[in-house]
Amino acid sequence: MQTTLADFLRDTPDGEEAKSIVGKCVHCGFCTATCPTYQLLGDELDGPRGRIYLMKQVLEGQPVTESTRLHLDRCLTCRNCESTCPSGVKYGRLVDIGRKVVDDRLEAQGIHRPARERFARWALRESMTRPALFGPAMRLGQRFRPLLPLALRNKVPQPVDAGVWPHNTHARKMLLLDGCVQPSMSPNINAATARVFDRLGVQLVVAREAGCCGAVRYHTGDHDGGLDNMRRNIDAWWPAVQAGAEAIVMTASGCGVMVKEYGHLLRNDARYAERARQISALTKDLSELLPDFSDTLQALTTEAREGKSGNGQRVAYHPPCTLQHGQQIRGKVEALLTGLGVDVKLCADSHLCCGSAGTYSVLQPELSYRLRDEKLANLQASGPQAIVSANIGCITHLQSGTGTPVMHWIELVDRMLG
Ligand code: SF4
Ligand code: SF4
Repeated sequence: MQTTLADFLRDTPDGEEAKSIVGKCVHCGFCTATCPTYQLLGDELDGPRGRIYLMKQVLEGQPVTESTRLHLDRCLTCRNCESTCPSGVKYGRLVDIGRKVVDDRLEAQGIHRPARERFARWALRESMTRPALFGPAMRLGQRFRPLLPLALRNKVPQPVDAGVWPHNTHARKMLLLDGCVQPSMSPNINAATARVFDRLGVQLVVAREAGCCGAVRYHTGDHDGGLDNMRRNIDAWWPAVQAGAEAIVMTASGCGVMVKEYGHLLRNDARYAERARQISALTKDLSELLPDFSDTLQALTTEAREGKSGNGQRVAYHPPCTLQHGQQIRGKVEALLTGLGVDVKLCADSHLCCGSAGTYSVLQPELSYRLRDEKLANLQASGPQAIVSANIGCITHLQSGTGTPVMHWIELVDRMLG
């Protein structure tokens, strides 16, 4: 689609990028069929093609309304449409830019979000990205969990013991992103990862100054705050990168997809562009790294098999959108677990979002819970003993709707190693 940028966007990096993305869309509508919000709402404007059309109008300077914002707000940013699109339209980048332009233009017209919504977005940004605040709040919530209203209880997982963090030194070292909410919500995920890598002869190093990957701020319209989070992480990781860290390991696919975009998002920052590019290149999801160790893992799990849980278990795997669509990584987790003797099933419609989608489950609860319940019905159809996934948001969201244990797949591998 040909787009003529409005004056306020002409020659700006975001404007030119958005124009080039829209230019690739041939309006075929293939993406609409795989869009979860279109499937739920049946409105063209709640599907990718309709949203792209809305954003094109905004880029051209046509009037922006609250309805425009609503249709963009309802998008999960699951990027299922990117996987479907035959023309390579980078919808995720477009909607990030489009949302910011729409918010700014409405603000400029004095059309503010309702106070409750503004507060929710502010609270998410300021609490989730600050572990020193979020951690104590989560512990308090866990203590009084039974007394919390259901909506809040759903966001507060049962407390889990992280187990022992290994302190062995190995010549092979990789960085591990601790993340912002995961250490408080599910501390066992990173500890299990460190234990598994320790058994494989790799030491995982956490740079304590690193924090939120930037996704929470960036995807809720605070682009400057998100970019600042990214620069802080680059500074925190850089000494270890220079010292030869082999990779930056991501245990949450939602963080992984963001860190892999640092290079692109900071490409115009003279000071950080090159470092950001190198950081993104070094960033790997767990499922990209562990297949290289699959022989060793198989030998270790066989050795530990006697009487241990995990082997032969029936599990249903939910691949997060940030892994299968955002990072375009498919099949690796299933192959690895199958190789270790786990009976892994993908469910019907496994390409669809579970409704968690970062902050979406808080900001759009109705659609989010409908998607969760549909996803759980599909996942549980095979009668799994556990559901495994690869992102803390999906894990917590799914667990809030089922008594079947939901965990990160690395926790299963950790258990199998004994
Ligand atoms: S990102 Fe997901 S919800 Fe948004 S338009 Fe694309 S498929 Fe639909
Ligand atoms: S599938 Fe791609 S080209 Fe076709 S309408 Fe959707 S975004 Fe546009």
